[in-house]
Amino acid sequence: MVEIQCTQCKAFIARYKGSGELDLLLLEKVIKPIFLKELGSSEKTNLPLLICHECGNKLGNPTINAKGQFAYKMIKGSFRKKGVIKAMTPSPHTSWR
Ligand SMILES: [Zn+2]
Repeated sequence: MVEIQCTQCKAFIARYKGSGELDLLLLEKVIKPIFLKELGSSEKTNLPLLICHECGNKLGNPTINAKGQFAYKMIKGSFRKKGVIKAMTPSPHTSWR
């Protein structure tokens, strides 16, 4: 599980069920926020751009993958991801990857 933060203002963007490169953010794998998760199951064909709700930084472009699932093509450098420790204990050694 990873958390995504805005590089510019460090705002929380999403919690995501997955790991690895995160080129593509699949909406059905989003845990939080709910509105983002729900976009994935909506009937809408035109998703809004993924932008930071705090500073307006552009984070991803809407797309649909080969299976027809809604996703965001993430813009490199606009976001950071952070591993989430299952036990939820805050660790001073948590580092950005
Ligand atoms: Zn931001």
